Amino acid sequence: MIGEVHTGIYRLRLPVPGALRSINSFLLKGREGWSVIDAGPPLPKCKEQWETAIEDLGIQFTDIKQILITHGHIDHVGLAGWLQEKSGAKVIMTEDEYKQAFYPDETEQVGSLYYQDGMLSLGIKAEEIEQMTAILRFATVIPEPWPEVQFLEEKSIEFGDRPWEVVLTTGHTNAHVCLFNREDRLLLSGDQILPTISTVIRFPTRVDDNPLEQYLDSLNRLLQLNPAWIMPAHGEPFDDLDARIDQLYKHHEERLGLIKSCMGNEPRIVRAIVNELFGSGLDVFNLFLATGEVTAHLLMMASQGQVQIDRDPNNNQLYFSLV
Ligand SMILES: [Zn+2]
Repeated sequence: MIGEVHTGIYRLRLPVPGALRSINSFLLKGREGWSVIDAGPPLPKCKEQWETAIEDLGIQFTDIKQILITHGHIDHVGLAGWLQEKSGAKVIMTEDEYKQAFYPDETEQVGSLYYQDGMLSLGIKAEEIEQMTAILRFATVIPEPWPEVQFLEEKSIEFGDRPWEVVLTTGHTNAHVCLFNREDRLLLSGDQILPTISTVIRFPTRVDDNPLEQYLDSLNRLLQLNPAWIMPAHGEPFDDLDARIDQLYKHHEERLGLIKSCMGNEPRIVRAIVNELFGSGLDVFNLFLATGEVTAHLLMMASQGQVQIDRDPNNNQLYFSLV
């Protein structure tokens, strides 16, 4: 399933379990070899599709000279080590994303909202946290071989005979990389903006964290680049960034409105708002996503002075109330 989506840029669609369904790896043809953006998840089916794609292109794995990983999520980085083993290519990532992907326990602050005490303070029960942790471990631990990684520090990089500006974006993860080619106004957008699905906002880590605002600011920066052709990590390439960003702003505005309407006059914990918005029958994985999303929206409102946060000293729970 490989096809050219722009001169010299090929898209390989790899299967991903769950709602995303597939991920795009991009292969850029250059005079001195091929460059790859994102490796795909560590699934046997994806390895097979890589092998078929290399054959269809009439090249060898060793023609791949560099592999850039946009961010540390397993569907992007999972096969980086395998692809490096087959090709000998260098693997490039930002240091933050590398650490987050390969050494998450060392980088997340224990006691942060993401961890046990923090989750409890949002109203998630201990047994639910246990189940979430098990699922997240299963879905995020990267199997061997691990790649040998060079940290991306440059402001621009040459891929497929084009210069690409490195645009660091936040909100989905901490140091996500988009690439922009100014001459042809091409944007490789990773997960930062997708054509049909709204990007997951990362789980806030502290009460003064504000990933939703970071995400919306990053969208604004992408808008200012004025790209003509956007190649995302999931879904089809598209051309109208303005319209898509408009939709996303509206989507988050609607969510903010819904959350506000759930809050009423009484201080509320995140879990109560989640139950009201999404029902109480969510499986633990969706409960995790929903809790992160509602918390991110509440923290943005708190940063704007619309919401007040109080901690109950008796049970350590965080109460949110409209100002
Ligand atoms: Zn991602």
